[in-house]
Amino acid sequence: MEKSTDKKKVIVVGGGLVGALNACFFAERGFNVELFESREDIRRAEVVKGRSINLALSHRGRQALKQVGMEDKIVSQGIPMNSRMIHSLNGKQSPIPYGKKGQFILSVDRANLNKELLTKAETYPNTKLNFDHKLLDWRAETGRMTFARSDGSKEQINADLIVGCDGAFSAIRKQFLRRSRFDYSQTYIPHGYMELTMPPIDGEFAMKPNYLHIWPRNTFMMIALPNLDKTFTCTLFMPFDEFEKITTGDEVIDFFQKYFPDAIPLIGVDALKTDYFRLPGQAMVSIKCSPYHIEDKCVLMGDAAHAVVPFYGQGMNAGFEDCIVFGEILDQLNNDFSAVLPEYSRVRVPDDHAIADLAMYNYIEMRAHVNSKWFIFRKHVDNF
Ligand code: FAD
Repeated sequence: MEKSTDKKKVIVVGGGLVGALNACFFAERGFNVELFESREDIRRAEVVKGRSINLALSHRGRQALKQVGMEDKIVSQGIPMNSRMIHSLNGKQSPIPYGKKGQFILSVDRANLNKELLTKAETYPNTKLNFDHKLLDWRAETGRMTFARSDGSKEQINADLIVGCDGAFSAIRKQFLRRSRFDYSQTYIPHGYMELTMPPIDGEFAMKPNYLHIWPRNTFMMIALPNLDKTFTCTLFMPFDEFEKITTGDEVIDFFQKYFPDAIPLIGVDALKTDYFRLPGQAMVSIKCSPYHIEDKCVLMGDAAHAVVPFYGQGMNAGFEDCIVFGEILDQLNNDFSAVLPEYSRVRVPDDHAIADLAMYNYIEMRAHVNSKWFIFRKHVDNF
């Protein structure tokens, strides 16, 4: 007999990409859903802080969006990238298709995707979104959570199921770390990343838009993804000590002249000289843990369970797929959390660990071999 879902209260902690989508998944299944997000509502915020400006959305992410009726809308707001475009040092550009003709990944705007998913979650009558609620602590025995608000007040909430979607530095995961037989590892890579904007030229994209542009330079790498406003977001990846060696605008130009000369006129000398110093290089971490659940009370999904380095373009996509897999197991096991949660860990941990390994592998691959024959062969099965 199917266990009733409508009286069970599911609390999703974190209203980022995976949390917002997950709220939709649980709402579709009839649970009473509440989402708690530490930031203010990004739909009303003037400046949206956070990581990368745009992201590559691929098949597994699209499948998840489809299940909540959001695929067409998000795809219509994205820019298809059919191939990678490899920029050699001498300025030569060589395309490498992602797959067969007609296959592509999409460049989507992170903030817009997050806003659309929150708006979708709000359309369910059985879902309530709470912003400016930062999880401070929670108890595995009771499911009781304590949230803090920016005015200093605190609120306590109980849940039947807590879904930790609060990102790589998850507050939910802290309770897991106190428990016996919980495996956890985190690795910071020596590279950081920095985002630079390539503006349109005469109102048009400065480079061909339907490509993910890559400048592989062994130790360094730059990629660029197109945006709807005809800009490109360029992301420069390099070791932190190299970022720190560059201390003046002229040194930035010298560095670009040496490694990315074709990008200088497109980004602009003045913009390069100033934008490079706007923010320091940002760190990238890979986190693996197991299991993803505590009894029938709590489950981790998205970056809270598996933060991966961004070189496989699969962090969000894998997090979206978590929602599909959990939903399938809920169906198979009649919404019985005591059976669903261990089964979810059993099925999902190996797959998410594999994505983390592939991403780490591509970290070396994209910089070093992206223009070798072997890379071109492998790229027919890979993603980024
Ligand atoms: P997050 O996006 O981190 O969201 C977590 C949310 O929880 C946030 O809104 C945060 O405010 C909230 N929160 C945190 N703590 C609390 C608390 N205590 N209480 C309440 N709320 C809390 N992935 C791809 O698939 N394709 C790409 O092309 C891609 N490119 C990337 C490029 C870069 C440079 C980086 C760094 C990552 C990239 N990723 C990409 C990975 C992707 O960004 C993440 O996998 C994705 O954001 C994970 O979503 P999430 O919802 O799990 O976590």
